[in-house]
Amino acid sequence: MVLLLLAGRLAGQTLTPALETWKKEIEAAGVPVLIARVEHDKGANTYSLPEGVEGRELFAEYLGQIDFLRQFEQMYGVMVHHKKDKPAYLVMLNGGRAAEWGPFEEAVLAHEFGHAWIKSKKYPAPIFQTGLAGCLAIHTGDIAQHVLIRKELERRGIDQRTFWLKTLDEATAKAGAMERPPEHDRCIRVMQAAELVDVRLGLEGVEWAGRDAYETMVRRVFPEVEPTVAGIVAWMKSHDMEDIAQHRQALGVVFEHLKALAYGRSKAYIL
Ligand SMILES: [Zn+2]
Repeated sequence: MVLLLLAGRLAGQTLTPALETWKKEIEAAGVPVLIARVEHDKGANTYSLPEGVEGRELFAEYLGQIDFLRQFEQMYGVMVHHKKDKPAYLVMLNGGRAAEWGPFEEAVLAHEFGHAWIKSKKYPAPIFQTGLAGCLAIHTGDIAQHVLIRKELERRGIDQRTFWLKTLDEATAKAGAMERPPEHDRCIRVMQAAELVDVRLGLEGVEWAGRDAYETMVRRVFPEVEPTVAGIVAWMKSHDMEDIAQHRQALGVVFEHLKALAYGRSKAYIL
């Protein structure tokens, strides 16, 4: 798995009008939003950056690292806040998973724009670390930020939900034959807890045919996440993520809940 810098292929850089508008608004705070549609060659398992991508050398810095690529291959898209020299929000779309996100490019990009938008508004965020602490930091930040992103996308008339429900239904189907993950895999439980928090907060009252099957799957494969999720959801529902002080407080509260789950101190987990 490596990155190739191909010459000759030009980047197609069209955005939907809603994304074009939002990009300009984010950039008005001073940091550009750069977008790369990263291509993937299945046979050779190589990623490539088309020529003509603005900030190509910045993207290459991240995509040239094997650890970053290992994370990237799990994602549809990602946003990296590049801080040194020339700051930029680097939004990368994973062409290797285009079969899954196919017609939902706007939804995937909009979600990553959302993370950049929150950065531009100077909300606090957990500091990234390596290993399990990094896993906790990412999901803690995401839980708080996703509340704001969902609200903003709705306000802008960008449909993220159709794609989201599709991915949740696919997760249910995929987990059909799945065994409970090994005890030492802590991050997968944190990831599942964060996803279930998103579902409980973001899909409440929404008609979704797959809800029961999804919840049943989570209860079967990850029974230990329920108390963690219930605790986080109750706290989040009584706090306002738009308020910077409460947003900061949420990071501390959510982190403690997820940490307890990750280190096996959750009551259900000890059983
Ligand atoms: Zn996110």
